Amino acid sequence: MTFISTRGYSNPQETFLDVVQMGLAPDGGLFLPKEFPHITLEEIQLLQNLSYQERLFLLLQKFELSLSDEQLIEMIENAYTEFTSEKICPLSPLDEKRYLLELFHGPTASFKDMGLQLTPHFFAASATDPKQKFCIVTATSGDTGIAAIEGFKRIKNMSVFIIYPKDGVSDLQKKQMQSVTDANVKVLGIDGDFDFCQNATKRVFTDPEFTQKIQEHYTTKFAAGNSMNWGRLLPQIGYYFSAYADLLQEKKIAIGEEIEVCVPSGNFGNILGAFIAKTMGLPISKFICASNENNILTEFINTGVYDISTKNLIKTDSPSIDILKSSNIERLLYMLSPHSEEIADLFQSLQTEKRFEISAPIKEEIQKYFIADFCTEKEMQETIQYYHAQHNILLDPHTAVAVCVSRKTDTKNAQQRIIASTAHFNKFIPAIEKALGASLDTISYSNDDHSHLALLSEKENIQTESISASYTELLSEIEKFLVTQQ
Ligand SMILES: *Cc1c(COP(=O)(O)O)cnc(C)c1O
Repeated sequence: MTFISTRGYSNPQETFLDVVQMGLAPDGGLFLPKEFPHITLEEIQLLQNLSYQERLFLLLQKFELSLSDEQLIEMIENAYTEFTSEKICPLSPLDEKRYLLELFHGPTASFKDMGLQLTPHFFAASATDPKQKFCIVTATSGDTGIAAIEGFKRIKNMSVFIIYPKDGVSDLQKKQMQSVTDANVKVLGIDGDFDFCQNATKRVFTDPEFTQKIQEHYTTKFAAGNSMNWGRLLPQIGYYFSAYADLLQEKKIAIGEEIEVCVPSGNFGNILGAFIAKTMGLPISKFICASNENNILTEFINTGVYDISTKNLIKTDSPSIDILKSSNIERLLYMLSPHSEEIADLFQSLQTEKRFEISAPIKEEIQKYFIADFCTEKEMQETIQYYHAQHNILLDPHTAVAVCVSRKTDTKNAQQRIIASTAHFNKFIPAIEKALGASLDTISYSNDDHSHLALLSEKENIQTESISASYTELLSEIEKFLVTQQ
């Protein structure tokens, strides 16, 4: 299987494991397979009676990962051991025709675990030189950080360096990250927003001088743990197939019947996993992209104009989708129209003019599949209130954004709809108590687990460390950390 960068770079010699190690392509673009494997309806039918792990194996096997079947089976077995649900990502009915796909049963209680519990095993398999070290450098708006730490911290020769906007993540997200004490993990707040953090990490990977120095002095290569990395995105295709197989098994749909998915989106990696599943043959008719008040994706999908020149990031109670630059849009554009020069131009113009506009045919192509809308903080809170009052369940704020947008975009002849439930509500207790106007101790609700997270939120505030939004300061912090890893 050959990989290609959205901006044109391709080297047929490079395998899946090379692409995982590289993270970002050398031309600054994002890797995609040149062609996607196909899965037939007969094969989808067969997924029904399998476990999540077996379903994932059958899918990933089609991607020619340059791993033996035994290796891949072992990786998948080891990746999904710390989940609180035997089904890994069960579906639960929400109301007529709507199901929550519960992606939060992993060790850090967000959907990021679905990818990041597996990605580190790809890294481990990719290491050919026993002396070579890797440092995962990742920007997080909340959930990626802890999920990357939990995924990577036990892998030999790996260290993890996380930066986050110091006022842009929830208290509990901060505590989850800062309370990790492993010597190969460093977590640093930045006095800036998520876009600064994400740009800065991208710049580290493509900084020839710095990367060369780090390799020479510390035998260390940088690697990406977020959804810029194909090895992180790939496992995220699996749960959409799995959800479809569950609907089949429960006889909610017939084989071949189309479904819709609705996903609270930030970097667009989760919903792109669903779109790739469709490209491979999963019958999905519509992709509903849900945003909060940071509604850049709504605007882009509805107008074809991506314009951040007049926008400031708004702090909301769904911080993991507080975003202006959504990196996987680049992959979507390439999948719909594989003209890498044009794509390089668009993202160059985003850099310099903070804006780009796609052509009318590509806009139409996007709108054939994608519907986008957003919800306000008040609407998100009302959604939490409504589902607690009517159904006695608590939705996390990100899931509530998706549920709210799903209701807004409902049509009379809507198909069965899967809503990605991307975090456990226990990760966002203050926001939920604000929405309900009551303390969780005083109310009842039926979906209770992950109580260890509730305990963590009661901990005293722990020491947090931060630096200003300066690239040179960041480089010096990274180097200081790598000195401790020798
Ligand atoms: C990361 C995250 C999202 C957004 O996912 P993308 O792949 O970045 O679009 C949504 N909800 C939660 C809880 C998340 O952690």
